[in-house]
Amino acid sequence: MGEVQHDAGDSPYESIAKIDTSKKEVVLGHEIGSGSKCLKCGDACTGLELHFWRRICKICKCSPEDHAVQIKEHETVRKVGRLFDSTNYKKYTVDKMTIEHTEMMAKPEAPVIGNAEPSKNITFEWIPQGATEKMVKRYMEMIPIENQPVEGTEGAQRRAQQMQKQLPDHDQQPELCQQLNTEEAERMLDFVKDYKEKAVGIGQVQPVVPHKVPQLQMQSLSLEESAPAPQGHPGAPDGVQGMDHEPEKTSVGVGEDTVPPKAVGEAKWKCCRCNQGMTGGDVAVFAERAGNDKCWHPGCFRCRTCNELLVDLIYFYKDDDIFCGRHYADLLKPRCAACDELIFSEKYTLAEELSWHIDHFCCWNCDTVLGGRRYVARESHPYCLPCYDKLFAKYCGTCNQKIEADSKRLNHENNFWHADAACFKCSSCAVSLVGRSFLPKDRNIFCSVQCKRKYFNQ
Ligand SMILES: [Zn+2]
Ligand SMILES: [Zn+2]
Ligand SMILES: [Zn+2]
Ligand SMILES: [Zn+2]
Ligand SMILES: [Zn+2]
Ligand SMILES: [Zn+2]
Ligand SMILES: [Zn+2]
Ligand SMILES: [Zn+2]
Repeated sequence: MGEVQHDAGDSPYESIAKIDTSKKEVVLGHEIGSGSKCLKCGDACTGLELHFWRRICKICKCSPEDHAVQIKEHETVRKVGRLFDSTNYKKYTVDKMTIEHTEMMAKPEAPVIGNAEPSKNITFEWIPQGATEKMVKRYMEMIPIENQPVEGTEGAQRRAQQMQKQLPDHDQQPELCQQLNTEEAERMLDFVKDYKEKAVGIGQVQPVVPHKVPQLQMQSLSLEESAPAPQGHPGAPDGVQGMDHEPEKTSVGVGEDTVPPKAVGEAKWKCCRCNQGMTGGDVAVFAERAGNDKCWHPGCFRCRTCNELLVDLIYFYKDDDIFCGRHYADLLKPRCAACDELIFSEKYTLAEELSWHIDHFCCWNCDTVLGGRRYVARESHPYCLPCYDKLFAKYCGTCNQKIEADSKRLNHENNFWHADAACFKCSSCAVSLVGRSFLPKDRNIFCSVQCKRKYFNQ
């Protein structure tokens, strides 16, 4: 499919080959958060209303994640639980913790329950699994305050948004996708199975103990198979006391027994993201997929692509780095720029450096399918010609007529001209300036300094 230039270019449109344009009207199965207010648009949006197939708000055209969607805890548990359902991973839970507020912690504006005394305590809506209170405190202090998931603060809202953004439900469940035929649904299931086996994990918060690698909790089936666990490995290192292991689970043997002492004897802990050293006594995040000799500062456990803190420490491992679920999938599959679903069909449209389901390549304004039609792109959104004219028409500085979207035009700063000899010419001697250098002055252009002088001195 063709590449298309933006509106200032020479030929601002290009035809697309004839493609199938049949489209079924499907209602999104998962209309959570409808009516939520938009955090970007404020009162300009009357509340989230999902477009019937694009994953955007019909009212303001922002994404659902830009709206203050409240997500129920059991939805989060179910969503994340699904990521780990085919592995031996310890059951995912959302653990909360209430502690006394300290300087470095976020605090809600008003007391959550409006009684007399404002509470001295704050509650984290999520804490790293299995962490002790001391570890939780250090962990939270080491991430930016705007990310701390303290009940009643922006941090908690941000966590809910990132949960939707980083782990799209429609990347996990074929039944939530509108576009899949049976064969594509099978391809998607294989894809999901594959990342569950090979990539996904939950970061574990552990104290940094010099000369000692931490014992990580067993997470995935495949790792268990490749490294059989010594039965009943006793004596967790200092830091993991108080971790809430399920009794029937054993840990993968990554303690002192299985790592040659000299390999870690001189090891200085370094953060994989910022390369700075770790301070003994602090906590770090470890990722089982990366190996227990690698760690990150809590504030550095971020997706390589979007640089957001990984929500609830859920990472996808690839090429020696960590990604959020969305951006891991983006490394392997095209994603439709209109409906946000991964594309499992063999044919799709490539335009504006983005991928689109063939029948989702539509006018951003009126949803007319653009396959086989001419269109103009603006800020990565394609428009049909009538909409483009209606919304962004420009007028020629010489003849004052509208410049149609499909005719060539030239511009200098905010002035536009028909790109022909009749309109793009010297204001003084009328020589054509198409393809030549020129001297601009307000709405006029000149072939030479002489012509410019003559024009203004007459
Ligand atoms: Zn909005
Ligand atoms: Zn909206
Ligand atoms: Zn770091
Ligand atoms: Zn990301
Ligand atoms: Zn699509
Ligand atoms: Zn249109
Ligand atoms: Zn003109
Ligand atoms: Zn001239």
